[in-house]
Amino acid sequence: MKDKILGAKIEHMNKIAQYLQEHIDGEVLTSAKARDYFSTDASVLRVPPVMAIYPKNKNDVRKVARFTWQLAEKGHILPMTARGRGTDQTGAAIGKGIVLVFPAHMNRLLEMDTKAKMARVQPGALFRSFQETVQTHGYFLPSYPASLDYSTIGGAVANNSAGEKSLKYGSTREWVDQLEVVLANGEIIYTGRLSKRELNKKKGLATFEGEIYRQLDGLITDNWELIQHAAQSRAVSKNSSGYDLADVKRKDGSFDLTPLMVGSQGTLGIVTEAIVRLSPYSPQTELVVAEFASLDAAHDAISALLPLQPSALEMVDQNLLAFVNRLQPNKLKDLVSDELPALVLLVEFDDLKEKARRKGAKKALKVLEQLASRVKHSSNHEEQERLWNIRHSAAAVINFSEDSRSSLPIIEDGIVPHEYFQQYVKNVYALLEKYQLDVALWGHAGNANLHMQPLLDLGKVGDRQKVFKLMTEYYDMVLKLHGSIAAEHNDGRLRAPFAAKQHGEEMMTLFSQLKTIFDPYETLNPGVKTGTELKDLTGLLRNEYSIQHLADHLPRF
Ligand SMILES: Cc1cc2nc3c(=O)[nH]c(=O)nc-3n(C[C@H](O)[C@H](O)[C@H](O)COP(=O)(O)OP(=O)(O)OC[C@H]3O[C@@H](n4cnc5c(N)ncnc54)[C@H](O)[C@@H]3O)c2cc1C
Repeated sequence: MKDKILGAKIEHMNKIAQYLQEHIDGEVLTSAKARDYFSTDASVLRVPPVMAIYPKNKNDVRKVARFTWQLAEKGHILPMTARGRGTDQTGAAIGKGIVLVFPAHMNRLLEMDTKAKMARVQPGALFRSFQETVQTHGYFLPSYPASLDYSTIGGAVANNSAGEKSLKYGSTREWVDQLEVVLANGEIIYTGRLSKRELNKKKGLATFEGEIYRQLDGLITDNWELIQHAAQSRAVSKNSSGYDLADVKRKDGSFDLTPLMVGSQGTLGIVTEAIVRLSPYSPQTELVVAEFASLDAAHDAISALLPLQPSALEMVDQNLLAFVNRLQPNKLKDLVSDELPALVLLVEFDDLKEKARRKGAKKALKVLEQLASRVKHSSNHEEQERLWNIRHSAAAVINFSEDSRSSLPIIEDGIVPHEYFQQYVKNVYALLEKYQLDVALWGHAGNANLHMQPLLDLGKVGDRQKVFKLMTEYYDMVLKLHGSIAAEHNDGRLRAPFAAKQHGEEMMTLFSQLKTIFDPYETLNPGVKTGTELKDLTGLLRNEYSIQHLADHLPRF
């Protein structure tokens, strides 16, 4: 009987796939290979889709959305998940319906206006290629994530990604000017800041777009105090959790959907083009690397360095250095002391003017000479690249597996106010010691935003149980320190169960009302950011973990 139902379902899906293939210019993939490939991203979760689509243009996206909307009107929900390169660590680039894969075709830099310092780009563009092109013109998109070699602009926009330079330049949200978005019903809209008059015009439209503006304006107006209070009471320097309702409407009555779309992980609409702002790029920097004998000394140094406004203030801990030494004995040779320090800080100044850069480095040196056990200053590009290896060697942990254990992105990306940095690090050490797990820490010391990936075997029941215990204790601890559960990698499915603890019941109710305004039939990446409880994750947890396939070419027929 079960086989019969399954057989009928498969036949139905094949008919849908065939219908879509006949109506779009891109490719529809239903092979077991393609579905298996797109059943995972860089998270510990697995959700096999019924098909993957490589849209060739925005009309393909519109047609697929329109089709799923019409199906939903008849009571059949076939969700859509937009996908870049699938490096998402929160299970937000996987979904049980159609996965729309943008890097296959919609991957071009369309336009660059150096005068306006803007670029128009398709979502599937590889971040690194985009960055290299704009850099040749003397600009860059400074909120780039560490994964830029294998992630897309669309993924960065949807996750509100951030990286090593976000201390000075902020997260992706600050750099997105306008978006072209396909709504749940297939309508296309262009976001950007509207005057009060323009907003009223939008609200008068007899379309789904008009309905969204009407309902959203009402929602924000009715809950103004709650939204503003929630935003103002957040004490961290970066946040990708929740929806950014606070930046939509300003006191002058102007209105912009862009900040809301950024960081929404494909749950409110599908981005088909982005206009991003660019910053002048300085290839020359000053870099100071400092070793510390204790966490306390490092914390004091961070406090003294922050007012100097470095472009980066990054860290790795002793455990990470020891781990890299064991794995690749020559990698850090001569870069750090033989007797490994408790913590290393990398402090960078990237001002366009040499005088300002040097001034920053000079002041940093003055601070560090008092507090650090060893300090190295470099103005030389090649030498700096070697020194940055200290921080970038975190990749060795991320890609590590031993026996059947792998480094897992499960307790990751928490951020706390700067004054709790020291306590945060101590708490992480204590938590991992409690579970007898090795720990290596790295991240954005200037933001008090840490990364870590404990080694566990997802094939073992005991370790699978530990995943949930660790997540609960870790996110509770971050929230106790007045932090956010997601500084840059967003909530996804994995952290959605903890979002309620961070935002509170009233804000979560607002988030689901917001979601219903944009996505009444729940066809846009359901279960991501909202609508997933801890118990839902048990069945989605993978039995193994690897991200090797993310470097593969996209599957073809
Ligand atoms: C080793 C490693 C290091 C990382 N370092 C960082 C880091 O430093 N900073 C950081 O922020 N993140 C980091 N990440 C997480 C991730 O790489 C980034 O968030 C990245 O920007 C995601 O891009 P992607 O192309 O892989 O997107 P995907 O993983 O494919 O998708 C991410 C989200 O964006 C949505 N999405 C994709 N395209 C669209 C679209 N066109 N319209 C609407 N929604 C869309 C997806 O539905 C999903 O919700 C890291 C991940 C790994 C594995």
